[in-house]
Parts: sequence; structure tokens; C-alpha cells
Amino acid sequence: MTGTEQIGTEGRDAENRDAAERGALAGGVDLRLRTIECPLCGSERFSELLRGRDVRCGLEGRFVVVGCSACGHQYLNPAPGALEACYPADYAPHVAVVPRNEAEDTDAEAGVRASEGAKVGRPWYLRYLPLKQIPGLRRLYYWLLDDRTQPVPLPEDLSVGDAADGAVRTDRLRAPRARALEVGCATGSYLAALHRRGWAVQGVELCEGPARAAVAAGWTVHQGTLETAGLADETFGLVAAWMVLEHVPRPVDTLAAMHRLLRPGGLLLLGVPNAGCWQRWLFGADWYCLDLPRHLQHFTEARLRAVLASVGFGQIEILHHRTLSGLVGSLGIVLQRWKVLERPGRWLQGYPERPQLALQLFLAPLAIVLSLLGQGEGLTIRARKRVPEAGHFVKE
Ligand SMILES: [Zn+2]
Repeated sequence: MTGTEQIGTEGRDAENRDAAERGALAGGVDLRLRTIECPLCGSERFSELLRGRDVRCGLEGRFVVVGCSACGHQYLNPAPGALEACYPADYAPHVAVVPRNEAEDTDAEAGVRASEGAKVGRPWYLRYLPLKQIPGLRRLYYWLLDDRTQPVPLPEDLSVGDAADGAVRTDRLRAPRARALEVGCATGSYLAALHRRGWAVQGVELCEGPARAAVAAGWTVHQGTLETAGLADETFGLVAAWMVLEHVPRPVDTLAAMHRLLRPGGLLLLGVPNAGCWQRWLFGADWYCLDLPRHLQHFTEARLRAVLASVGFGQIEILHHRTLSGLVGSLGIVLQRWKVLERPGRWLQGYPERPQLALQLFLAPLAIVLSLLGQGEGLTIRARKRVPEAGHFVKE
């Protein structure tokens, strides 16, 4: 069937019902799969590109990625109607360590935790080898693992000066604190990082478990979607969504909602897997970053630029990730086909969730070359809400 154009038909719906029923019987989970139109352009015409299993969480059934015949967008079709059912309670991004809102702690407590974290997190060669003495090593390290090109960049270069309102930059004492929103904030690690940089932060999280954990730790997190969060328009200087847009059923509406929430000139930060990269075509259904059926959208750089521009974003910058964790994960998925290689395969597949510094550094030179060639396995996007030109303001 691959490559043959199709239109949503009765026959396919019957097939989808079968798949959903199989899922309900085998795994006790009904994803309510149904055939959909292209989430970007609304076309009903598509061709099947690949068919794969849920290799990460083991949901029953085969899931199909199609290419839109009109705009070329790749998306999951049939798509699940019950999104929450796709995320088991132990879904790794949702069970990260919950950072406490340190505004509620004493400085002493925070200091103790920070020093504990530093001791536990550092590998032995950083604790015992005199690496600090080697001239230029630190600079090389930062260059190799360029933070801006990691799946979730640390917000080190995001000072409140990035807020849309110039007053915040020039007169911090009198201006209200610059506000940032993270969509899909899970347990709040990135909110905590932004908070340390001086932002007043809020989060939105669809899944109840991580949202509750974040609220219990002192963060303002709305459980639900952007639409149900009830946030006021033009409130935020920064809206971030790391590895979220590929999970939402209507990405154009989601980007339009983010656009409304930003103040003019406000900064949008996104991260998505790059479905236009070589790994997607080499590994096919075994590509780690497919994450079927949780990834509903599979963006390429060109499609993403077009959508961002269509909802009113400008100054669009796209960086290709300098990481090959997905490559290691994909190799792990392939190896598990052979019984004797199942154990090392499982280890490699789990690697992207606990990447190790030594292997990251070893792979960094290749990752840098691929990133420069526009073949990173993920994309980091920075864009700004356009400021209305003088004379174009509408008087109330
Ligand atoms: Zn389309």
C-alpha cells in the first residue's frame, strides 16, 4: 500500500475500529483511533509512509504515519481520540525529579540540595581526574555540547531582558516581573530553571500525575490544555514548549494560541524531532524519535517555518540539535529483533532518557557535522511575535 494515495473511507474506519478493539482487548487501553484530515492543511488525501509499533511503552496495535498529498506534512493517521491513554503512568518525561519552588525554601536548604545534586550527578572521571587543569578543555566542552542545540536548552541566555516589554529591561524595579509560560511543563524542571533566571513562571500540563507533582512542589501549573487554562491574551514575554508540538492534535491552533498569549515582540521557543533527517528515512518505523502513537505530528524544517509564518511569527531561527541520542536509541530498537542482542538493545534504547557524558562527547564531532549539514535529529526554534508597525494600531 505504501505510496498509494488514499482518502479516508469506511473500509479504513472498520480497520481502525479493529485496531482499537484489539488494543482494548490486549492492553486494556482504548485509544479511540479514527481517520483524520491533515492537521496542517485539512486535505483528506494522503499516502501511507510507514507502519510501526509502540516500542517505548508497548501499547497494542500497529500505528500508521502518512504523508499529506497536498502539503507533504507527515502525521499519525488514524489518530488516537483518547490522548491521555497514550501516556502510561511511568512515561519517562513525566517522572523526572520534581524541583521545588525555591522561593518557598530558605537559602540554606536550597544550598544543601544543590551541593548534594552536584555530588550525585557527576561521573567519577569529573570527580577524581584533574581535568580542570587542562587549558582550554572547558571551552572545548561547551563548544562540543553547545547548549542551544540540545533537546531542552538550559535558559542561560534567556535573561528577563528577552521579555517583549522594553520597560522590563531598562527599569526592573518599577516594571512588573517578566512572565514566562511553559506548555507541557511535566514536573516543572524548566519552570525552575526559568524561575532562577528571574522569570515569573506558569505551566500547562495535560497529564494529571506530573501536573499535580508540580503544583505540590509550589509551581503554578494548569492541568489541561492551552484552551482550558484560561490565560489572558498578550500576557507573556516568553512561551516555551519543549518536545510538545509533535504531541498535539491541532498544531496550528496550538501555535495560534501561543501567539495570542505572547506580548508583541515576545519570544516563542520550541523543540521538535526532525522528521526530515536521515535517521527517519534510514530507520523507518524503528526510528527512536517516532515515539508512536504519542507523536501525532512529524515536522520537517520547511513545514514548521511555513506554519509559524502563517500564524504571525517572524524572525524565525531554526537550529539543528547537536546530539545523537536518538541514533543510539534507534540502534537499540533494531538490535532487539535478535534474541541474543535483546539486553544490549534494551540498554541502548533506554540511553536517550539517561544520556552519558562520555558517549555524548564521543559522538559530539559527528553530531556537530550533521547539525551543520541541516541533518540534526531534532530542531530548536526561536521566533518572535511580530510587533505591529507604527500607524497600523487600531484605536479602541
Ligand atoms: Zn496537508
